[in-house]
Amino acid sequence: MNKQKAITSFLEYVEQLPHLPLITDSDMCKLFGEEVNTALAEIDRFNQKEQICLRCQNRCCPVCGCELYAPEFGRCPIYNLRPVLCRLHFCHRFNTAGRSVVVELGDIFFECLQAADQASSAKVRLFESPPLARDAPELTEATASWVDSVRKGSLDPEYARKLICREAEKYQTPDTHDGTRLKSAVDS
Ligand code: SF4
Ligand code: SF4
Repeated sequence: MNKQKAITSFLEYVEQLPHLPLITDSDMCKLFGEEVNTALAEIDRFNQKEQICLRCQNRCCPVCGCELYAPEFGRCPIYNLRPVLCRLHFCHRFNTAGRSVVVELGDIFFECLQAADQASSAKVRLFESPPLARDAPELTEATASWVDSVRKGSLDPEYARKLICREAEKYQTPDTHDGTRLKSAVDS
């Protein structure tokens, strides 16, 4: 992967992201460029095929204190809008997927943040989420009771996931009121 190209792309696009820490797939592609996007898609396919994260008993999500995590969801309830950190974290279980690509992606992410920091970007700290409460308090406050109910077994996880997706879409696109753009996340 061309690291410098990814860093240049990151610096060009980072200030245009208004709703970090959440990010869409298409913004991820614009932020890091096609090469990184293709590498991530390959790892994602491997993950889906081998069900690495799905079968993981010791998920990184609760370890980092993510407010949206409940084991009952099976996977991230805001998968299509999950933060960059979640998209670029691959634990040792991904060693067989080609460790060099994983290490390269980690280096690119680190150097992008370093370059943005040197350019005095105020957005850099938003890439530290999750946990989400500091940078997306509206989202965590609106969804806390649903996540809690799912954890206690008193709310259907799939129903709760749809409610949480709606809140995440609202956070991502606060001007949206007609529900049109909600459909993609809720239906995913
Ligand atoms: S990245 Fe590793 S620790 Fe995190 S959910 Fe996937 S397999 Fe589990
Ligand atoms: S937002 Fe990130 S840490 Fe939280 S549940 Fe989703 S993938 Fe896990």
